[in-house]
Amino acid sequence: LGGSISRAIQQMSNATIIDEKVLNECLNEITRALLQSDVQFKLVRDMQTNIKKIVNLDDLAAGHNKRKIIQQAIFNELCKMLDPGKPSFTPKKGKTSVVMFVGLQGSGKTTTCTKYAYYHQKKGWKPALVCADTFRAGAFDQLKQNATKAKIPFYGSYMESDPVKIAVEGVERFKKENCDLIIVDTSGRHKQEAALLKKCAKFLKQRYILKPDLAIFVMDSSIGQAAFDQAQAFKQSVAVGAVIVTKMDGHAKGGGALSAVAATKSPVIFIGTGEHMDEFEVFDVKPFVSRLLGMGDWSGFMDKIHEVVPMDQQPELLQKLSEGNFTLRIMYEQFQNILKMGPIGQVFSMLPGFSAELMPKGREKESQAKIKRYMTMMDSMTNEELDSSNPKLMNESRIMRIARGSGRQVREVMEMLEEYKRLAKIWSKMKGLKIPKKGEMSAL
Ligand code: GDP
Ligand code: MG
Repeated sequence: LGGSISRAIQQMSNATIIDEKVLNECLNEITRALLQSDVQFKLVRDMQTNIKKIVNLDDLAAGHNKRKIIQQAIFNELCKMLDPGKPSFTPKKGKTSVVMFVGLQGSGKTTTCTKYAYYHQKKGWKPALVCADTFRAGAFDQLKQNATKAKIPFYGSYMESDPVKIAVEGVERFKKENCDLIIVDTSGRHKQEAALLKKCAKFLKQRYILKPDLAIFVMDSSIGQAAFDQAQAFKQSVAVGAVIVTKMDGHAKGGGALSAVAATKSPVIFIGTGEHMDEFEVFDVKPFVSRLLGMGDWSGFMDKIHEVVPMDQQPELLQKLSEGNFTLRIMYEQFQNILKMGPIGQVFSMLPGFSAELMPKGREKESQAKIKRYMTMMDSMTNEELDSSNPKLMNESRIMRIARGSGRQVREVMEMLEEYKRLAKIWSKMKGLKIPKKGEMSAL
């Protein structure tokens, strides 16, 4: 999606006159891209109509920065689509809240429950986990294992088959223990499940004090066009109040999030970005949309880089990047960081170029080996070669010398230089970019 949208905007910006025809072509291109990215047809059509209303061609003709006007309109429109207009119920620290997780089997509920508990625990809450999944064999063990790892109290049973009974018992017990965030994990089995959830919610309602304060719909980002119907089905059986989109570390750009918000009229509150406990982020509309548009997530990147790159390295690195001087030495240093710090791999996966090609998810070992190989070759380079941003410098005799020096094939050196060129090209687009302050968005 990001690629095609960027391309569409690029094509438009190459046209000297932006008239209705060009605008339409651009919108059609974006429409196709959004549909491919699993955004529901109706939503795409609405967006198209709105953009046309917002973007006044006369303004464009008179305005100086046409491209910016259209980009901004698209950006704002996507942001609006992710904003249901009212915030979700937010639990308060020190005051007991019951939060129930719902969603299809395999969507990531159990994993996300623990992430959610762990996230709050780190902030000083007293969370607890209740396993009300009595369908799936091993469900309780899975939750128990997660909870133990995070040192979070848990409740469940191997014997009891009534999920409602377990939920009630668990909630009652943890209320007594003064837990302020009681998280109920449920099973997620299709239609049968929808009926069960209804029963469960109704039962909890009857008990009144046990009514869940919030039901979170957990959605796998890769479910495709099914997102809208699925979200709607859950909304009809439980009072869904918030959405968490999981597996955002995979290939999906998360277009389904737009559908989930539209279907549940609830905001996305977190995203899951991996299988581990801390691969969990507060959902932030603007960086999400800028990522959707393929513009790189600058504010997220800045926050992360503050965490993982030693402070004294930052100003220089950022200065160099904003100057558009992506040298081989910068690539080398970033490779070092990736290998040393693990999590920075995630940081760079948010930036254009560093994600899919260089470090495909699930093939980390291979990527690491490749990065190490590249670095060995770069160790045979001179300072002049490392610091130059002139691609012509790397002539045949230099390439042969580097291959000999590192005991590698000429072909491999060329491959490494190709990789550098690819990254440099992407980064050259960042030239002149205002370096955002922490938490500030400036992707557009
Ligand atoms: P449930 O059936 O809804 O409870 O789903 P689980 O929590 O058991 O998760 C199903 C699978 O998805 C497990 O293998 C999880 O490790 C995986 N998973 C969950 N969230 C994420 C995520 O954000 N990223 C990735 N890559 N995998 C996830
Ligand atoms: Mg589960």
